[in-house]
Amino acid sequence: MIKMNKLEYYCLICSGELIALSANPIEDGQIMTHFQCISCQADHCYVEEPYIHPPEKTPAYNCKFCNQSCKYFSLKDDWSDYWRCDPCDTHYSQVLVGSDTMAWEMDMYTRVKGIKFCLRQFMQEKKSRLEQIPDNPDDTLIIIKDFDHLFPDVNPQNIQEKLPIYILFS
Ligand SMILES: [Zn+2]
Ligand SMILES: [Zn+2]
Repeated sequence: MIKMNKLEYYCLICSGELIALSANPIEDGQIMTHFQCISCQADHCYVEEPYIHPPEKTPAYNCKFCNQSCKYFSLKDDWSDYWRCDPCDTHYSQVLVGSDTMAWEMDMYTRVKGIKFCLRQFMQEKKSRLEQIPDNPDDTLIIIKDFDHLFPDVNPQNIQEKLPIYILFS
């Protein structure tokens, strides 16, 4: 992916506008935000250290799977705030869609045969997306498949065995 400059949301190939698609953990606790050009679709990324808010000042959110309280993170770009459950390797984020509706997204990460995958579930839209996340931001993030439904049966305990089935039939 093309490494973009901080807070400069234009394509380094065609100068088109970049939109943020997702933010994903990579090694050493850094976060790689994936942007795509709306004109030529070129993938861009920005890598940064997230800010972990002190627990007493953060909106509480308990993990839907293990019920422990999540850590609250934000990125300097200020386009995304999210909660993270480390034991479940799951992110929860809330984005404003339209003028007053908040949409929840739940991102579950796992590795299959050494490769990192993310199952993104867009709770309001009832849609999901399976992505392959590169460990090295120089490599490409691959959208494996979009689904017209959620995966209510997938949890951190079974995601590793369920994912290969979805990948196989994609
Ligand atoms: Zn472009
Ligand atoms: Zn959890």
